[in-house]
Order: sequence, then structure tokens, then C-alpha cells
Amino acid sequence: MAIDHSMLSPAEKLLWRYGVRDSSHIDLEAIANYRGAEVVYRRLCGCAARLVAAGNNAVISVDTGSYPRRRRFSLAHELAHWICDKDRGSFLCANGDIGPQNAEAKNVEAYANGYASQLILPSFLVDPWVEGKRINLDTAKALGDDFDASLTASAIKVARRAQAQTCVVCHNQTKRIWSQKNLSFPHDFYVKQELHQDTDAFSMAFGKGNGLSRPVREAADRWLQGPGAYRRTVETQSLKLPDDTVLTMITLLADK
Ligand SMILES: [Zn+2]
Repeated sequence: MAIDHSMLSPAEKLLWRYGVRDSSHIDLEAIANYRGAEVVYRRLCGCAARLVAAGNNAVISVDTGSYPRRRRFSLAHELAHWICDKDRGSFLCANGDIGPQNAEAKNVEAYANGYASQLILPSFLVDPWVEGKRINLDTAKALGDDFDASLTASAIKVARRAQAQTCVVCHNQTKRIWSQKNLSFPHDFYVKQELHQDTDAFSMAFGKGNGLSRPVREAADRWLQGPGAYRRTVETQSLKLPDDTVLTMITLLADK
């Protein structure tokens, strides 16, 4: 595999140094152990994961109350603290601190989320994997299965690496909870706060649909506001998440 080492993020450099050349090689527990951190899984009260550091050793505890791919992300997040924030001591990370959607702010938790996302879905492996595939949640699901990553993390990754104007958004019944646009997405277009009643996502949020919807083309102004949005078309696909929120990938199609 030929790659430009100078283009790799710090997390990717770490994986590369440990010989990762395929998604199946990403063994986070082995990396933690190698770096002097023991990983234990147990019920934690009030936090999703924690890092207790003492000198060159640490114990990373991950809450068993969440599903396996969430636990994997939590482990990657604590590993990021252990590797990047060593002089800050121990960490106690709440559910809301840990998640691929919280990687853009300029703080230590956001940095750990960005680093964790690269440990689980490193761009140097994801880019060739995504190449030539359609940009939708079906592709994100397949990526998540190959890389043992959550659908949310995989969807954000697919959107971010896409050339097309794509964003990922999460809604509950009443409002937009978060959204992430890729760099191609027009800066003056915004995802609307509320779900439009004619969308699959709306049906899912109100309990009338489950699982993954089929990709559909629909009027952009059901989803977006921005200059001339009423003339544009989007392709969307939605998925109901275990916490009853709805994840949607939106791609703005080229102007006719
Ligand atoms: Zn944290």
C-alpha cells in the first residue's frame, strides 16, 4: 500500500506504525495494552468511560451498559486521552462527551472524538474503500460492518470523504439535534430545525417506520433552507437509531 505519510493524521500515523494495513488489523485493546493501559469492561454509574492514569500506566474502564460499537468508540476516545492528554491526568467522560458528532469544537473532548474517529475509521483505509460507491446510508452501513464502527460514525465518515455536497443530520420528534456538513456543502444552506411531514424520517420519528428507508429523491426545501432551495433536489436516506432519534444523509444534487 503506497501512502503519503505526511498526509496522515496523528491517529493514522499511530495505526500505521503498529502495522495496520487493513480494517481487520485495528485492535484497540492491543494498542492500549502496548501503551501501558489496561482495558476493563464494567458497569459504570454516571459516565460512559473513564481513564485513571498513574505514571506510565493507566486503566481504561468502559461501561457495559452500551452496545458493542458504542463501547468501541468509548475505548478509542479514552485511548485518545491517554495518548494525547497525558499530562492532564485522569478523565471521567459522560455519554454526551463521547461521540463522532462532537468532533468540531475546540476542546479536549472534541479532539479526543476526532482522534477516536480516525482510530476506528482511518481515512487512509476508508478513502479507497469508499471510492466509486454511492453516497448514502447503505454504504455507511456496509462501512460500519467492515470497520466495526457505529452507523453514526460511519455515516459522518462517508459524508465527509464524499466529493458530493453531503451532510448528515440527526432529529428527534421536535427538533434537529446535530448536523455535520462536508466541505463541499454550500455554506449558506442549512438543515431545517423540524422534520417535514412528508419525509420518511418524519414517519420514523413518530413510530411509523423502522430500520433503514430506501434512498429517495425529493424537493430540497423539505430539508434545507438556502438560496434557491425550492428549485433544488436532494437524495436522502434515513435510519431510526436505537435511542429513537432519526439519522438522515442528505446529498444536494447538481443544479439542472
Ligand atoms: Zn473524554
